[in-house]
Order: sequence, then structure tokens, then C-alpha cells
Amino acid sequence: METEPILIAGGGLAGSEGAWQIAERGLRVVLYEMRPRCSTPAHKTDRLAELVCSNSLKSNAPGAASWLLKEELRRAGSLLMKLADACAVPGGAALAVDREQFSQAVTEAIESHALIELRREELKEIPRDRRVLLATGPLTSDSLASGLQALTGSENLAFYDSISPIVDAETLNMDRIFRASRYGKGGEDYLNCPMMEEEYRDFYEALRAAETVEMHAFEDVRYFEACLPIEELARRGYDTLRFGPMKPVGLTDPHTGRQPYAVVQLRPENLRFSSYNLVGFQNHLKFPEQKRILRMIPGLEQAEFLRYGQIHRNTYLNAPRLLSPDLSLRAQPGVSIAGQLSGVEGYVECIATGLLAGIAIAAHAQGGAYTVPPRATALGSLVHFITHADPDNYQPTNISFDLLPPIENAPRHTARNRQARRELQCRRALREIEAWIQDLGNLSAESFAGHPERSEGSLYFGTE
Ligand SMILES: Cc1cc2nc3c(=O)[nH]c(=O)nc-3n(C[C@H](O)[C@H](O)[C@H](O)COP(=O)(O)OP(=O)(O)OC[C@H]3O[C@@H](n4cnc5c(N)ncnc54)[C@H](O)[C@@H]3O)c2cc1C
Repeated sequence: METEPILIAGGGLAGSEGAWQIAERGLRVVLYEMRPRCSTPAHKTDRLAELVCSNSLKSNAPGAASWLLKEELRRAGSLLMKLADACAVPGGAALAVDREQFSQAVTEAIESHALIELRREELKEIPRDRRVLLATGPLTSDSLASGLQALTGSENLAFYDSISPIVDAETLNMDRIFRASRYGKGGEDYLNCPMMEEEYRDFYEALRAAETVEMHAFEDVRYFEACLPIEELARRGYDTLRFGPMKPVGLTDPHTGRQPYAVVQLRPENLRFSSYNLVGFQNHLKFPEQKRILRMIPGLEQAEFLRYGQIHRNTYLNAPRLLSPDLSLRAQPGVSIAGQLSGVEGYVECIATGLLAGIAIAAHAQGGAYTVPPRATALGSLVHFITHADPDNYQPTNISFDLLPPIENAPRHTARNRQARRELQCRRALREIEAWIQDLGNLSAESFAGHPERSEGSLYFGTE
């Protein structure tokens, strides 16, 4: 068993959760948080776990993917989920929180834990001789980002996130769409949504008039040149999209026998072909606007979007290339990564990776075994995605049912009913997370022996 404290950089969502999990397992933690001495362009307070934008932790409706992730976290003893529930404000189907109360409660819990020392300092270099968890978020300080680049290779650290929308395959209108790759190269992997001239004109005009999300002052527009959003392409001229992501060359619509005027190509997101991304359709439009305008694309009239397009400042690693399933760097197992930096997207996903990295670090430091959560759980699926996705096109992800394995041999009526299938996936996930927690509990109980300083209360308060 190691006696040196575990170092954590970043007292945000992931770092605070990670610190708590490690300390609750009887190990000392030094948590570095650079605010208030040095802030990020998005944070406004000196509190830990500050929510930088929305105060919503997404759906709290049983059966939703985001609910499942939260429910697993609650059962696994997440501090931040417990405090989020305690600070909830009316938010319809979403878990919305009073952001001030929430970050105050996290700060107090961390500050008062006997095994956590909070240092209000920037961690500028990555220590090589100690276990360390890096959870410095999308706006990681420059010096630490340089250290990470040196450690992982500059090509593996991104500073900007440019996300294309993803659509649920079951909601596509295949009467309008045809399968083909440009010039017949690459089989029939792509789905093509062909547009006639008037359809293109309507789409173009809607895009020109669409409402975009306001940029934050620090989100420097020069980043856009590398990966231009569709609304910016439309601003540059009527034909710019037709010569860019919507170019129709090399494609013949089997319904007309001719090359379409413009085409939107959909690329499969997974081998089950259950979802597709709209190639080159990164954009910065408001979500309701995206839904309205993207549904103007032939074949997408009733489309359900699993993810909308987004563009924002984000520092993240190429997780599938670099991370092991315990969220440590393969090339440097003493260094673990959590939060946005680990290639997930969203508040709850950051809490989730913080919890898992914390549990794994504690297990390793105590000389015990760590088992990744089962693949059929939301926690397990999230980790599976970030460590197994295609590293060549890696983009951070939120939790969605698409990441969870399907139910094999589902009863016939269930196979046709998406909601029923999701319910089965949720039930299976909760069963399996309970078994995983039970195993962890047994392991932890052994490790806790002789650690009276652990804070009062059960580790698994979520199941009380
Ligand atoms: C502008 C913006 C808006 C977002 N809005 C949303 C939203 O509405 N909903 C949503 O689900 N997700 C949103 N996200 C994405 C993401 O969920 C949040 O950024 C989330 O807070 C990330 O959690 P984290 O723990 O990875 O990092 P953070 O919560 O940002 O925590 C990182 C911490 O590390 C500190 N730090 C940085 N470098 C160092 C260093 N070298 N030494 C010590 N401390 C350091 C920072 O001060 C910060 O406190 C947004 C992201 C951004 C950038």
C-alpha cells in the first residue's frame, strides 16, 4: 500500500468526484485547483465543481440514457450526484440544480474531508514519480497542456471540438435515401440524401436565416478555418456548400438515374449501423433550429437526433489511442485522466469518469484489483467507447443508448418497440451495476480496514 498522497489537478466536476472517491477509500489526496489565483475564461467563482454554463444535468426521467448514467452514479456512491439531488430546483424532466448551492456544497464536502488537502495552486508540470489524476477540463491551463502534449504527442491533444450531428437510423426515410460511396469506391457504406435544386435553395436560405449560438469571448474564431461550420460556408456563397460537404460528384441517384444537385452524406457511427453522422455538418446553430433545418434534408423529415452539432473550445485527448480502460495513460500508467480531458462530453459524463478514475487509482494504490464496470452498463459503455472508438476520427461523446450493447434475442414485440428495448437495456444495466458495486464493496471493505480517518457515513449512501 502506497503512503504518498495521490495528486489531482483540477477541482472541477471530475477532479472533485475523483478526490472524494480516493479519500473515501482511505487514501490521502492533494487536490490542486488554480482558481481563484488564476481562472479560466469560463469560470466565474472560486468554488469547486462550478457549472460553467447550463444548470441542467440533463434528463432525470427513468428510461433516458442520461438518467441511467445518473442512476448508476447514485448507486455507486457519487458525491456530486448526491449533492446535485440535494440542490435540485424545478426543471421539468431534467435534473436542474441551484448552481451556487451545488458548488458550495461540493467545496464544503471536499474542504472538510480529513484526507483531502485542497491547494489553491496551478499544477504546471506532470509529476512522473507519483500517482496523479489530471482533470483540468476543457480549459486546461497552458503550461499543463504543454506538458500533456509533450507526454502524449501534440497530434493527440485537441484544443477545439467541432461536432457533426448524429441521427438515429430507425428514423430515416429510406424511400428518399440511397446507399453509395462516391465513384463507387468503398462499397455502400454511406447513405446519401439527394437534393433537387429547389430543395437546395430552400435549405440554403433557411441556413442563412438560422439563429446561431452566441460565441463566448474566448472562443477565438480563427479556429473555424480548419473545420468550418455549415452556416459559415453558406454565408460565403450560394454554391460553397455544393463544392464542400454537399458536393454531389461521383454519385448517381438510382431514383432519377442522374447526379443530384447537392447531397448530404451520412456515415455509420457503429458496426450495428444504428446511427449515422452527417458528414461535414458541424455547426453552431441553436438546437431547435438544427432540428428544424436538418429535417428539411430529404430523408430526414422525421429524423431524431441523438446528438446535435456543436463547436466549442475544448481540450481533450485522443482517448482511444492513449487510455486504458482504467483511464490511465497506457504509456504512463501512473497518470490517469478524467473529465472532458478524457474525451467525454457533458457534466454527468465528467462526474462519471472522475468517479471511475478515482476508484481505479485507489485500487491500484492499495495493491488491489480494479474491474471496469460491465459493458452493458452506462458507465461501462462510456468507458468502452472512449477507449475503443476509431482513433482516426475521435470526437468526445455524451452517453446515449447507441453506446450500450443491444438486447440479444429481445421478444418480437419488444424488438419493434424502441422504448421497450430501452427499458430492457436500463433494467439489465442496473442489475449489472449492482453486481459490480457489490464486488467493489467487498474489495473496499478489505482495503478500509485500518483507515479510521475516512469520513463518516456509508460509501454507498446512494443505495440507502
Ligand atoms: C464554455 C463551456 C460551456 C459548457 N457548457 C456545458 C453545459 O451547459 N452542459 C454540459 O453538460 N457540459 C457543458 N460543457 C462541457 C463540460 O461538461 C464542462 O466543461 C465540465 O465542467 C467539464 O468538467 P471537468 O471536470 O472536465 O472540467 P472543469 O469542471 O472545467 O474543471 C477543471 C478545473 O481545473 C482547473 N484547472 C485547469 N488547469 C489547471 C491546472 N493546471 N492546475 C490546477 N487547476 C487547473 C480549472 O480551474 C477548473 O476548476 C461546457 C464546456 C465549456 C467550455
